[in-house]
Amino acid sequence: MSHGHDADCDTDYDTEYDAVVCGAGVAGLSAACALGRLGHRVLVLEKRPEPQQVAKGEVLQPGSLGILREWGVADRLEAAGALRLEHLVARAADGTPRMRLDYGHLPTPQPWLLAHDYPTILRALGDSLPPGVEVRRGALVEGLVRTGDRVTGVRCDGTAVTAALVVAADGVSSRLRREAGLTAPRSDYPHRLAAFELTGTVPPDFSAYVTDGGLRLRYPLPGGRVRLYVQVAADELRGLGPDGLRAWSDRVLRGCPGLDPVAEAFRAGVADRQVLPVSRTLAPALTVPGLALVGESGHLVHPMAAQGMNSSIADAHTLAAMLRQGGSLQDDVVDHALRRYDTARRHDLHHIGRTSHNAARMITGRSWIGDRALTGTGANDRIRHEVMHTMSGLGIRRLTPVDRLHQIGVLPDPRAARLPGWARTVRGSGAAAR
Ligand SMILES: Cc1cc2nc3c(=O)[nH]c(=O)nc-3n(C[C@H](O)[C@H](O)[C@H](O)COP(=O)(O)OP(=O)(O)OC[C@H]3O[C@@H](n4cnc5c(N)ncnc54)[C@H](O)[C@@H]3O)c2cc1C
Repeated sequence: MSHGHDADCDTDYDTEYDAVVCGAGVAGLSAACALGRLGHRVLVLEKRPEPQQVAKGEVLQPGSLGILREWGVADRLEAAGALRLEHLVARAADGTPRMRLDYGHLPTPQPWLLAHDYPTILRALGDSLPPGVEVRRGALVEGLVRTGDRVTGVRCDGTAVTAALVVAADGVSSRLRREAGLTAPRSDYPHRLAAFELTGTVPPDFSAYVTDGGLRLRYPLPGGRVRLYVQVAADELRGLGPDGLRAWSDRVLRGCPGLDPVAEAFRAGVADRQVLPVSRTLAPALTVPGLALVGESGHLVHPMAAQGMNSSIADAHTLAAMLRQGGSLQDDVVDHALRRYDTARRHDLHHIGRTSHNAARMITGRSWIGDRALTGTGANDRIRHEVMHTMSGLGIRRLTPVDRLHQIGVLPDPRAARLPGWARTVRGSGAAAR
């Protein structure tokens, strides 16, 4: 497939499109890809001249891989060296396993997670855009254009760009969400995450260590690198010089002997870090006539649940499916499709948000309930598989209030060893041997 057109900010562009997308993060590029594949003319406006070089989203779930394969993105990522991760193990600080998720048990042709750097994922999406998509970088969207109650375009560089559909993919602080009168009240977690990139020869492993000091998560990246996240208090690293950082890294390592294989690489890389705040939200409404929120403009979960990019991709895929069913871009047809998008996505995002929050409490909370839930889920084959299915993006598997009592060990589960039907079929067909 040929690539979308990537324009510099001083290049002329039309002022009428089928869809205009604000933001070229994972959500915006996914929306552009999905809408472009319907044959629509799409303009993407991105305020940054270049993609961000940050560690922000590196793990793609199996549910996204089916969509990304269809778009040609998964093949590009694999050609660029993306790694398949087949299981995730939550461990005690000394490395003892407490809960194991085996993605090979999932009912999908691609039962693994795929890991690559965030800029490479953005590049693969950008390179897979269909020909009807134009990307304009260095273009700040200043606000919405309305005709009566309907959003009919955006203002950019003092020019009105009109479109049958405006997609707000402008991230967590979305200006377009605010202008559309939509809200997304945020709850902050009490901790931050410090991200390190470790180099050197270290064994590939995807483990979440649950320690007295909080979460330590490591997974491999292409080129023999390792991503390490360390949960920290808000001001834990503030003002630390080289000696302070060395003492801090020694404390982290002492509190987590499971990290011994990466200890040297961690000490060597500790000065180069990103510290990120952590929040969650779900907008009570994702659309108004003429406009849809996709990605973090509409929802946010704890990053360690590895759901953000995946939910953004699912948003884009669902939005395009609803528009395709409508069959035209007349205002009333678009708005009907938007209402259906809102209902379908809020249902799923509500469950994903809840499961992600519970998973985050298990691995970061250092609370009695989180610890009990980790032990209970780790020991319960049925619930563990249902949680993995929901998090994989392959479909929501609801847990009942009684399941939650089983999870925290308040009520014994007579069905704890009984795999869900979908997992029995997959294992019976030989997938467990993978
Ligand atoms: C530490 C960390 C780890 C994570 N790990 C994972 C993971 O492993 N798996 C996963 O699925 N997710 C993960 N996530 C979440 C994931 O990165 C995000 O959910 C996803 O990238 C969100 O994409 P987005 O496009 O909605 O927002 P953004 O990436 O914020 O993109 C918004 C874009 O809009 C542009 N923009 C904003 N305002 C304007 C404007 N007015 N005009 C023009 N352009 C504008 C911005 O410049 C930006 O490029 C992680 C997040 C963090 C912080």
